[in-house]
Amino acid sequence: MKLKWMKSLLVGLFCLFSAVSLLQAEGVNNNQNNTDTSTVVILMGPPASGKGTHGNFISKYFNIPTLSTGDLLRQEVQAKTELGQSVEAAMKNGDLIQDEVIFALLEKQLRQPEYANGFILDGFPRTLNQAKTLDALNLGIDFVVNLQVPDEVVVSRISGRRIHPASGRTYHLETKPPKVAGLDDVTQEPLVQRADDNPESIKKRLQAYHEQTAPASQWYQKMASQKGFVFIQVDATKGIDAISIQLKEQLK
Ligand code: ADP
Repeated sequence: MKLKWMKSLLVGLFCLFSAVSLLQAEGVNNNQNNTDTSTVVILMGPPASGKGTHGNFISKYFNIPTLSTGDLLRQEVQAKTELGQSVEAAMKNGDLIQDEVIFALLEKQLRQPEYANGFILDGFPRTLNQAKTLDALNLGIDFVVNLQVPDEVVVSRISGRRIHPASGRTYHLETKPPKVAGLDDVTQEPLVQRADDNPESIKKRLQAYHEQTAPASQWYQKMASQKGFVFIQVDATKGIDAISIQLKEQLK
């Protein structure tokens, strides 16, 4: 047991150090350099707080891509890779995935040239440890956007949520139904419920959010002026347009 734990730690550290050296060697998004023009945004919030929707807005606003660790993991599950098979059950249960898996995925993804001008991190960091590890990379965070939604709203949003897997378009059975029940408006392909959008998993994801992610967002709020980024608190129960207006004003 102890050996297994040590092995995980070593693998995690290896991934972290290779990510640090890669990113630093390539000077990717290093804001300590005055010529930096890239934008790095961290998007935080409980499940179904609208990270996808508002992430899209921010992505268009700055013309930078979104990197969602949840999406990366789902792609691995879908493609039935070894990694995907190893995380499938934990994701379905609503458990967090080990740091070393997440760091390895991120490192692989951040090698792509499309992230050279900045990116939005959606779903990462999700724990204080992940936040501090990211901090050590000195990527030059510009904004941390924290979406706040009460638990009961999360539960109602998730239980009615249906998605079109190919495009990521989301619907809600009551508040945003598709034109034809069960079908995507654009392609008419079937809508599905995410494997982890079940009551047991929702409970666990909310618990993980309160116990592990909220301390990370509180840490960001506390460190904002010291680290030189803007922390944006958003009441994510407001309408999409109202939130876009707020973001436009504060993403400066
Ligand atoms: P949501 O915000 O709706 O819970 P995500 O798509 O962000 O959904 O994540 C889905 C699942 O992927 C999480 O419940 C967790 O199992 C895993 N996951 C995603 N990002 C991380 C991360 N940074 N650390 C650990 N697990 C993660």
